[in-house]
Amino acid sequence: MSTLQIDFGDTKPQSKIVGIDLGTTNSLVAVMDLTGPRILSGIVPSVVSVTASGDAIAGAKARDALVTQPERTVYSVKRLMGRGLADIQNELKLFPFRIAEGSESVLRLRLGGVVMTPPEVSAHVLRKLKLDAENALGGPVTQAVITVPAYFNDAQRQATKDAGRIAGLDVLRLVNEPTAAALAYGLDKRKQGIVAVYDLGGGTFDISILRLQEGIFEVLATNGDTHLGGDDIDHLLMQVALEDIRAEWDEDISADSTAVQLLRRAVIKAKEQLSFVPEASIDLEYRGRRYQRTLTIDVFDRLIRPVIDRTLRPCRACLQDAKIAVEEIDEVVLVGGSTRIPLVRSEVEKLFRARPHTELNPDEVVALGAAVQAGILAGDVQDALLLDVTPLSLGIETMGGLTSKLILRNSTIPASATEVFTTGVDGQTNVLIHVVQGERELVKDCRSLARFDLKGIAPMPAGMARIEVRFLIDANGILNVTARDQRTGTEHSVDVKPSYGLTEGQVEAMILESVEKAEQDFAARQVREAQVEADAVLAATERARKEPGYLDLTDEERSAIDTAINELLVVYHSDNHELIRAKIDQLDVATQKLAEIIMNSAVGAALKGTKIDA
Ligand code: ADP
Ligand code: MG
Repeated sequence: MSTLQIDFGDTKPQSKIVGIDLGTTNSLVAVMDLTGPRILSGIVPSVVSVTASGDAIAGAKARDALVTQPERTVYSVKRLMGRGLADIQNELKLFPFRIAEGSESVLRLRLGGVVMTPPEVSAHVLRKLKLDAENALGGPVTQAVITVPAYFNDAQRQATKDAGRIAGLDVLRLVNEPTAAALAYGLDKRKQGIVAVYDLGGGTFDISILRLQEGIFEVLATNGDTHLGGDDIDHLLMQVALEDIRAEWDEDISADSTAVQLLRRAVIKAKEQLSFVPEASIDLEYRGRRYQRTLTIDVFDRLIRPVIDRTLRPCRACLQDAKIAVEEIDEVVLVGGSTRIPLVRSEVEKLFRARPHTELNPDEVVALGAAVQAGILAGDVQDALLLDVTPLSLGIETMGGLTSKLILRNSTIPASATEVFTTGVDGQTNVLIHVVQGERELVKDCRSLARFDLKGIAPMPAGMARIEVRFLIDANGILNVTARDQRTGTEHSVDVKPSYGLTEGQVEAMILESVEKAEQDFAARQVREAQVEADAVLAATERARKEPGYLDLTDEERSAIDTAINELLVVYHSDNHELIRAKIDQLDVATQKLAEIIMNSAVGAALKGTKIDA
């Protein structure tokens, strides 16, 4: 008979929380040890491929399949996370995503005979990381911290959490990538300072400015370019090499996808070598022929300078947004494989006038920081509190299609805000709460996140109801909205769920647009506000005309009211808020006597039956 193991309680090995950098190009998993964070696997390319037998594979093998089985293989899927068909038209022009039919509602990709959503694809990468971690740790891994770009919106964050869940991981926290990088460097240990995190990866560039105070992080601002990175450099080198080959072999291989993929490998190899040696060669052997070209660092630098220059403008914009002068930057952290390039390092140093940190491998920094955060959650690391930032303002729609912002862009999270709103129509028992994200004044120019009805509010004259709206963003950047009728206590709340199918609008574009359109928006807002006020005054006049007191007015007084109403209606749709307001004032004057009569009779009625000495 077998013996049962004795459970001594606390000898059971505790399962570790891992930190994961789920990157566009590459992913990594790390864990917090007694000595500090440690990488658990090699770099896992964020590529997924489906084999002939229908099994999905992820990582280096899948990347090899990009050459042999391009139609069954997908990369850069992070670009599609939490997005809808309308959002990704730009990506489709640049990447060979094969979109499955019926993707109008939920985006799906076709990998050979298999159809998957972006979170399902990402889940395969996460499963591979989970497995690597389990092998390294010798035990099950079920909990993780995953990093996301600071500019990821709610839908993109939610999709990342979904991917974790599909992979069998409980995602305890999403952490912004720049925050993770600063943590990896232990910058939270210093008392205070301003940190710039410059992240140039495979296909994306992000710059973030963080403030540290008493060991607390706060992301002051973020900026970047979602189509800028090592891929652009590869593309430039490819053009040079293809041109060479055309001349040497008298053949254009650019339509031969296998040849192109092999050449891309060769080009990337040369590029990566040039970060360490002054000269490297691009080498291709294909169908018995050989192409070889030596590339010096000088030529390389000249070739890639425009790409590096494109990272500098977002850096300046970010400083401006953070209201930080270059001289105030205390530390600069380099993140992303492409920051190994010497020209990147020197340009960053020149711009920020500070020597960047390069002690850690730039492609490991984010995963290491995620592990530090995991350690904090597990209680292995003390005294660190993280604050992140919301990239776009969040608010609700108010009368006239205007937005009322509750949480402003670049607010630190977790954050909450409460504001009281009222109704616009007498006896209204429902209100529509429409949650929007963006910087513009009019709802139609913002991104719609959620809508819900608050039903069963106490009927009241317009303007009397008190509806409290509360916004709460948790540490993962997920928004909860609650609306509550203060009189009845009726309330309704939503977690803002990913609305796959958002309108196109990258954060940067939205912010830029709001700056460009600021003047126009301000004018539109004034017109809408005047119109909303006109609506209220016209409705009140309509009610007053039904009162018995109306009959006490002279003919002239009545026709003055009619004239004022008509004139207000004539200018109502003009773009001139001053004119609308002038006509509102005119109607106010014309109805003054009527208002007095009604008021007096109301007071009289109220006094009737009241004892004089009361
Ligand atoms: P991401 O965050 O986008 O997933 P990484 O931070 O892993 O990506 O960066 C990947 C990019 O870094 C690729 O374009 C890769 O070619 C580039 N890279 C990696 N090592 C080097 C190197 N030694 N020199 C130049 N570029 C490099
Ligand atoms: Mg990265």
